[in-house]
Amino acid sequence: MLLSDKVASFLGGGSFIRKMFEEGDRLAKIHGADKIFDFTIGNPSVEPPEKFREELKKLALNPIPGMHRYMSNAGYPETRAAVAEVLSEQSGLSFDANHVVMTVGAGGGLNVVLKAILNPQDEVIALAPYFVEYGFYVDNHGGVLKVVPTDEQFMPDLPAIEAAINAKTRAIIINSPNNPTGVIYPAEILTQLGQLVEKKSLEFGRPIFVLSDEPYAKIVYDGAEVPSVFKYITNSVLVTSHSKDLALPGERIGYLAVNPRIPGVETLVNGLIFCNRTLGFVNAPALMQRLVTGLQRETVDIAEYQAKRDLLYNHLTSLGFEMVKPAGAFYFFPKSPLPDDQEFIQRALKYNLLLVPGSGFGLPGYFRIAYCIDMAIIQRSLPAWTALAQELGL
Ligand code: PLP
Repeated sequence: MLLSDKVASFLGGGSFIRKMFEEGDRLAKIHGADKIFDFTIGNPSVEPPEKFREELKKLALNPIPGMHRYMSNAGYPETRAAVAEVLSEQSGLSFDANHVVMTVGAGGGLNVVLKAILNPQDEVIALAPYFVEYGFYVDNHGGVLKVVPTDEQFMPDLPAIEAAINAKTRAIIINSPNNPTGVIYPAEILTQLGQLVEKKSLEFGRPIFVLSDEPYAKIVYDGAEVPSVFKYITNSVLVTSHSKDLALPGERIGYLAVNPRIPGVETLVNGLIFCNRTLGFVNAPALMQRLVTGLQRETVDIAEYQAKRDLLYNHLTSLGFEMVKPAGAFYFFPKSPLPDDQEFIQRALKYNLLLVPGSGFGLPGYFRIAYCIDMAIIQRSLPAWTALAQELGL
């Protein structure tokens, strides 16, 4: 009995992504790594912007005394002010450094917020398909994840969300641009969600928060825009990171920001800072905070992702795969051509195509393709997709 019953059961359940990763390893040993088309992991294929390296070099050559020491648990004031300046512009609201807490990635930020707001057995709504870690994060803080389906276009189903809200509901997690579907929620939907949350918060006598998980906010195509959640939803907390927009997932740097219009916002922020500290993060990585301060208006090369999206989207749809065209992020979430998505994944493996079943995102009957991989691998994979489509009679 080395593990707690709960962790043992979570491990027993297994992760689809991890299973496919191991399968990829096995296949690479048999066929050679260049014959394997691994579309399983959302690990950016692009490099951070040049300005990141320049800032890194500058700091290495001209170290600032004390730059590796502890700082305020919320992070450096100048970093938070740089974030606040951009948020003010995007939302038209008045943000300052006091509304921002630097975090250990978006994952760290979500844990901080959930710890700060959940009482035991409080419910958190997630919209399927969803980033599967949400379930573990909510469980970490004694909450219960309640999964609500989205509509045919993967947009929030407002009546279904309303029906799922009760006196125990404390938060709704939204994720736009979405992993795994790539859809962006328009302003009208955010407005309606904001009205619903306001009405239900009044009805049940305590705030229900919308946690907007937005690590893909800058990875958008064809000039699409991600509306600012702060504009449309008062009880909103933004959680994000530079894992995708600056291609720094291993550096674990992100932030959370609270809507300045939340009544009693100072108390909320004090709670968040306390949780950043007591979850053991203490503060977000110091060096990364300094580096991203001047990079708030930078983004990785989106054109590269768009070229990959377009190539694969055109090829797959011409073969008969059905999917909603993603407006952002770097995933496709097509319908599984077989009723059983896990069986489909196994059939794809015959062609060395590694994919993740929709079941891994709380929505069976679909599968996810992460196309944040080298263009050369995508190009080499095209005949494999064609052969798979032929075998399935698409
Ligand atoms: N939220 C979503 C929707 C994600 O896809 C990811 C990572 O893939 C995260 C959160 C976690 O991001 P981070 O690496 O910044 O913790």
